[in-house]
Amino acid sequence: MKRRVIVLSLDELPDVVYAPLGTRGVQPLALKECPRCGNKVIEQLHVVSERKGSREKKDPRLKAQSVAVDEFDINCGKCDYSFTIRCENVYSDFQGKERVITFVHIITEDGNNEGWLGNY
Ligand SMILES: [Zn+2]
Repeated sequence: MKRRVIVLSLDELPDVVYAPLGTRGVQPLALKECPRCGNKVIEQLHVVSERKGSREKKDPRLKAQSVAVDEFDINCGKCDYSFTIRCENVYSDFQGKERVITFVHIITEDGNNEGWLGNY
């Protein structure tokens, strides 16, 4: 029997995230890109592992009701750099409907948070 290989992919992530530019609207930024060599070839950005977080209550002073963090460990097939895309999904009620805003962070190979990239 053939061993079943679970293929992880970045399909569930959008191609771009949006970073606010103050009063000048938003700037779309490519999400699926190696932070070191700029490789954008999806087939070469391998998802090594992914972790899906369960929802947790956020700070009660904030309107957001709960937050779940998903992390995707990526290895660039071109330059062999490893990085993590961290998605912080913030769930909140908006006029009776649930709304999700996802804040995306890039974590470097040595664990540094490069900062908030944008959201979608
Ligand atoms: Zn690379």
